[in-house]
Parts: sequence; structure tokens; C-alpha cells
Amino acid sequence: MPQPNDLIVIGAGPGGYVAAIRAAQLGKSVVCIDKRGPLGGTCLNVGCIPSKALLDSSELFEITNHRLAKHGISVGKVALDVAAMMKRKDHVVKSLTDGIGFLRRKTKIATIHGTAKLLAPGKVEVTAADGTKSVLEAGAILLAAGSEVATLPSLPLDGKQIVSSTEALSFDAVPPKLIVVGGGYIGLELGSVWARLGSKVTVLEFLPRILPLTDTEIAGLVQKSLAKQGMEFHLSTKVTGAKIEGGKVTVQTEASSGNATFQADKVLVAVGRKPSIAGLGLDTLGVKTHEKTGKISVNDKFETSVKGIYAIGDLIDGPMLAHKASEEGIAFAESLAGNYAHVNHATIPSVIYIWPEVASVGQTEEQVKESGREYRVGKFPFSASGRAKCMDESEGLVKIIADAETDRVLGVHIFGPRASDLIAECVTIMEFKGSAEDIARIVHGHPTLSESVGEAARMAWLGKAIHV
Ligand code: FAD
Ligand code: NAD
Repeated sequence: MPQPNDLIVIGAGPGGYVAAIRAAQLGKSVVCIDKRGPLGGTCLNVGCIPSKALLDSSELFEITNHRLAKHGISVGKVALDVAAMMKRKDHVVKSLTDGIGFLRRKTKIATIHGTAKLLAPGKVEVTAADGTKSVLEAGAILLAAGSEVATLPSLPLDGKQIVSSTEALSFDAVPPKLIVVGGGYIGLELGSVWARLGSKVTVLEFLPRILPLTDTEIAGLVQKSLAKQGMEFHLSTKVTGAKIEGGKVTVQTEASSGNATFQADKVLVAVGRKPSIAGLGLDTLGVKTHEKTGKISVNDKFETSVKGIYAIGDLIDGPMLAHKASEEGIAFAESLAGNYAHVNHATIPSVIYIWPEVASVGQTEEQVKESGREYRVGKFPFSASGRAKCMDESEGLVKIIADAETDRVLGVHIFGPRASDLIAECVTIMEFKGSAEDIARIVHGHPTLSESVGEAARMAWLGKAIHV
């Protein structure tokens, strides 16, 4: 066991491995422990990367099947090879997890494969796969153990027909019918993958709307768009039980419109994730967690209620996103090295990689309204964008919310082609406390999708755009 250390990192996800690399770059001796073989955590192994690989593959399938003809391109019969699609996805994952191994060696971070548990401040017990135990000591311990799937008592997972996102990333064939419980990020992304590949997808959502944290107007547009793509939505619907019989799953539900049953070949349960705190030994040491969410409480230096023990990423407050975990990892390492560091949660972008994409930063219109602030909204539809027309991608819009008095940008919500890339400009402007006028006066190349961001800003600033 490598000893002594400045820092022990528990968890090699985008929070933990990034914190380890930055701390090593700043001269710290670091050991990183993970119970999973390949490095990269949920994100690289069973999260962001495999889901985006399948979203990209299934999008190509959808375009080839339904959209090439309009561009004057005809193809013969299009065939789907699910095994080859999965093999490519696995290859993408492996090349990236191997890449982290390379970075780890370059920065001389010791990695241990095992399950970690806090014994005391500065002391961690590691249990290897064969049950062998060892103890590591260090000046600081960073908890970066991430999150795990949240489940429903009425719908226990069996890993074959009632599954979590992990199994839904590796189905070996397209399920003719798929029920998705939860109309959030995972439900819509993985629902899109299988719907594009030919599954009849039905989404059962507990709330009266999908995407509860997204701007309501945008969430409504998303639902309409996905319904047009063939997905069926049942809102305000509570799952009360499920039965597996004859290879099919029957899901019972209660809704204000009446009780109903739905049948499918597979059910994906995507009702959120919870922090992975079980077995970390938090109770013995008195590390405080929030009663309701189970998330670990930290101060502005990511230190928990116990001196020398820190936490970042999905374990602490804020959105459960990989880039948030990584930025916290960097800020933690810099602060440990005595530098000033800070992560601005108000400007963390979020992206939903359905098609068209959804990207947001800052407050939703509902949040701004609730704050009592006077505001202006500028919208620009992609149907008025030259580039979107050339791409045959004119669905959606850019929505910019600005303070009525100061013109400061309070929130940006984009539903449209390449929204994931367009949001970066808005994040920058918001980080620099910029205004709608700032965005409107920036020169946007022509013809680009980014002109729509400029036009929406002009709408928020002046109430007039040039092209609508
Ligand atoms: P994790 O990535 O969860 O890593 C924690 C690591 O700690 C794991 O490897 C685990 O094995 C290890 N660990 C846990 N307990 C112990 C222990 N006791 N001892 C040793 N090791 C331990 N986010 C985005 O930003 N963009 C996306 O597109 C996106 N897509 C997603 C798609 C899916 C299907 C899922 C499930 C998630 C997605 N996310 C996405 C969320 C993202 O994966 C997480 O927010 C991110 O991985 C959190 O990083 P983390 O480092 O905090 O934890
Ligand atoms: P989520 O919180 O995004 O969505 C869960 C949905 O399930 C919500 O709409 C919620 O109202 C609904 N729900 C809760 N209980 C229910 C019930 N009993 N019956 C029916 N519906 C119910 O959670 P998720 O989709 O599981 O994803 C987990 C997290 O992973 C996300 O919040 C996000 O932080 C992260 N993630 C991010 C991305 C991305 O960045 N593109 C992609 C996937 C996951």
C-alpha cells in the first residue's frame, strides 16, 4: 500500500479522478480508491459516455431512415445491427476509461481497486475483491463516491425486464415495447435511443409535467416533439405495482383519469439517483448529511462537519452532473493547496441530449417570476434561422430572460439543434454578469445557429429582432 499520502480520494468518477489529477499537479501525493475495475465512475462506465454513444448511433439510424430522402439521398434497405452498435459503445467507453489510467500514471497517482470505508479522520480501510483488508493514512480524505440508482418499492428491479439505466444501455435487442417510468433526463434520453431504434416507448411520469426542473415552456415543447417522434406520455401517473408473466411486464398505475395497466417487454425505472453513502462509515465519524436528501453537508472549501474530510460531486448539494463534479474536484484540490477556489452553481449549464437538444443555464422563467423581479423575455425560433433551414432543423427556439431594469441575463433556455454547443456563449456571458445587449452586440458568424442566440438577445434587449 502506498504510504504516507497527502490525500486519499474515494471514488474515481469525474469528481474524484479530476480532483486527484489536479492535486497531483499541485505537488500532492495522492491515492485514489475505487471499487469498480475501470476508472471514470458512473459517467464513463454507465452514464454520460455510453448513453451519448448510443444517442449518436441511434440518431444516425433515424436520419438515415427518415431524413436523408428530403436531402435527395436515397439508400437501400437500412438494417440495424444492435450487437455492432453496442460493441462501438463499449469501445468508446474502454478507450476513455483507459485514457484515465494513462493520465493517472503520468501524474503518478496510486490507484487501488477496493471498497473504502472511513475509520477515523485521516484513516481509511480498503477491502479488496478477495476480502483482504488494509489501512491507508493521509492528511486529507476526499469523498467522491457519487450516486446510485433510486428505486421504487412498487417496482423492484430484476435486472432483466425491470431495469435501471445500466441495463438499458446494454439491451441485446430492441424491445418491441418499452415502458419508461420517470420523464426526466434518463427517461427521455434512453427512451429516445430505443424509440429511434424501433421500440414503442411509453413514459409514465408521476408529476403533471415532464422535466420538472426545466423551464416549463421548453418542457412542453420537448414533450410535443417527442410525442411527434412516437413516444407516448402519461402524466400525473403513479405506478402501484408490476407483474411479470409470459415474458411480459404488466405495470399497474393510478391516475386522476382512472387506474390503468400498461404492458411491455421491458420497463426502465428512471426516477432519479441518490448519493452513494451506504457503507462509507459516515455515521461512526459523525459526518453530517441532509435529512431529506442524504447528501453530505460541506462548507465553501468542500469540508464536511469532520475536519480533514471533504466531499464533492453527486454526494453533495447541486445538480448531479459530471462537469459540476469535475469543477468541484478542481476547486477542492486548489483550495487544499492553499489557493482561492470557487464553483458558481448559478452558471452550471445542463444539457439533455435528445433531438433537438435542450440546454439551459441560470433561472427558469418560473423561478424569475417567483423572485418578484421585473424581467423581459426574448425568443427567437430556429424556423427563422438560415443555417437551421439549410440543416433541415428548424424546430425549437432560443429563450433569453433578462432583468427588466439592468438587462442582466438571468437565464437562457435553448431547445434546438446543437443547443449543447450554443449554450457555452450564454454561460460565459452570465459568468461575467453580462447583459442581453452584450450578447446582441457580439458578432455572430453567418450563417450559424449562434445567430439565433444573438437574435433572441436582441428581442430581450430591444423587443425587436432583425429576422422576425
Ligand atoms: P460517480 O461518477 O458516481 O463516481 C463515483 C465512483 O465512486 C464510482 O466509480 C464508484 O464505484 C466509486 N465508489 C462508490 N463508493 C465507493 C466506496 N465505498 N469505495 C470505493 N469506491 C467507491 N452527467 C452529465 O453531466 N452529462 C451527461 O450526459 C450525463 N449522462 C448520464 C447518463 C446516465 C445514464 C447516468 C446514470 C448519469 C449521467 N450523468 C450525466 C450524471 C453523471 O454521471 C454524474 O453526475 C457523475 O458521474 C457524478 O460524478 P461523481 O464523481 O460525483 O460520481
Ligand atoms: P431525474 O430527476 O432527471 O428525473 C426523474 C423523473 O422521475 C422526474 O421527472 C420525476 O418527477 C419522476 N419520478 C419520480 N418518482 C416517480 C414515480 N414514482 N413514478 C413516476 N415518475 C417518477 O432523474 P433521472 O432521469 O433518473 O436521472 C438522474 C440524474 O442523472 C439526473 O437528475 C441528472 O442529474 C443525471 N443525468 C444527467 C444527464 C445529462 O446531463 N444529460 C443524463 C442522464 C442523467
